[in-house]
Amino acid sequence: MIPVQGYTDQRVIVLGLGRSGLATAHALRAGGAEALCWDDNEAARDRTEEEGFKIHKLTGPEAFTDVAALITSPGIPHLYPTTNPHIARAMAAGVPVDNDIGLFFRSFATRDWDRFDTTPRVIAITGSNGKSTTSALLHHILEEAGHRTQLAGNIGRGVLDIDPAEDGDVVVLELSSYQTDLARALTPDVAVFTNLTPDHLDRHGGMGGYFAAKARLFTQGAPDRSIIGVDEPEGVYLANQMATGASDDRVIRISGAKLTGPGWIVTARKGFLAESRKGRQVASIDLRNVPGLPGAHNHLNAACAYAAARTLGLAPRAIEAGFASFKGLPHRSQIVGQAGGVTFVNDSKATNLDSAAKALAAFDNIRWIAGGLEKEGGIGALAEATSTVRKAYYIGRSAAEFALELPELDHAVCETMARAVAQAVAEAEPGDTVLLAPAAASFDQYDNFERRGEDFMAEVAKHF
Ligand code: ADP
Repeated sequence: MIPVQGYTDQRVIVLGLGRSGLATAHALRAGGAEALCWDDNEAARDRTEEEGFKIHKLTGPEAFTDVAALITSPGIPHLYPTTNPHIARAMAAGVPVDNDIGLFFRSFATRDWDRFDTTPRVIAITGSNGKSTTSALLHHILEEAGHRTQLAGNIGRGVLDIDPAEDGDVVVLELSSYQTDLARALTPDVAVFTNLTPDHLDRHGGMGGYFAAKARLFTQGAPDRSIIGVDEPEGVYLANQMATGASDDRVIRISGAKLTGPGWIVTARKGFLAESRKGRQVASIDLRNVPGLPGAHNHLNAACAYAAARTLGLAPRAIEAGFASFKGLPHRSQIVGQAGGVTFVNDSKATNLDSAAKALAAFDNIRWIAGGLEKEGGIGALAEATSTVRKAYYIGRSAAEFALELPELDHAVCETMARAVAQAVAEAEPGDTVLLAPAAASFDQYDNFERRGEDFMAEVAKHF
């Protein structure tokens, strides 16, 4: 655990008592603060009280008196679509609002670090898609290369749950836009921006707010190195803002297209990763047969992880070895079985259009299982991405709408996962891929995307 610094003997409210909220309460207590806890959910309050924390109602006139800060969970909106009433009252009372990421950055470095030969470093990864894969891959590469490393944030452990740093540690943090939006301190040594496509727009008041939330990781903390995917205008803009000129190698540009220039560049094109510096190629890696990283989207994730590992001084060959032994993450382009010449792929995490399009581009002859809780704008924009699809099998609340939105595509409205898998299996021919890439949220039928992916795998298993 990372004891929170700067609040000794002060009262700090923790709002939202899920996994990260509880970890925050413990870390505040370890740092000598008094954690005053609240969650609108009674069961969460009871759990917290059992761990010896004080439950603090946020409704009375004195609720925010003598309170040094309010620490909120990422799931609670602080501004859009409407400000949570507790947060609104804290702000009106002049109480600084922060989150566990802000506490982490103000608390991670300690006096002990004076004794270290190599200062611990934090690499923080954000972006619309590929954060988890890039974070897990980088963590794996570092581990395989013999570095001490911890993985935390939106993946793995809560940030305040990790072990205090030892000499030479590298902490890999996956940060969502909800987390970067609010944190009052954001000071990674290396920051990574994978890409930007529309998502969570209601929570950020539109695309500008969404981009601004992610850009804070760079503009607030001024990292030593910025690794930025430049295949969207926002990435180009961010790279431009962070660099003093084209040859400034504090910015590493990542692209799936051919990119030239005097700066530090890593591209992933046609199955090959290439690194160039000062206009010269210095390394290249063949990614075409790396089983844990299928598809062009994963090659871009590999390029981001590669660049981050290079900033720590790893050799290209050590990184290549890490790629080769990476198993991939569950529910992201995960090959879950092969039978009778048919491959089954679970990409339940493809909850938005861009990630679904990437999954559709990574395979051929696809029997596509899609649907769920439709996101704003529908799926009509996927029409071009479906050239690899032989037939779609729609599930969930959006099944009928999806069928209407892609009128050219051969399809069946199946509604349930069981029926979709059964029909896809019955119709599949050798060489086909049955792919779950829903392009929709899971909450109409499942608690989360993990449950949906597990259901897909269980249904697939029934047929063999
Ligand atoms: P995140 O943590 O940002 O949500 P994940 O690594 O969990 O990212 O991947 C989320 C979804 O996006 C998965 O469906 C995955 O196949 C897809 N995906 C992964 N990397 C990329 C990328 N670079 N560009 C677009 N889609 C991607």
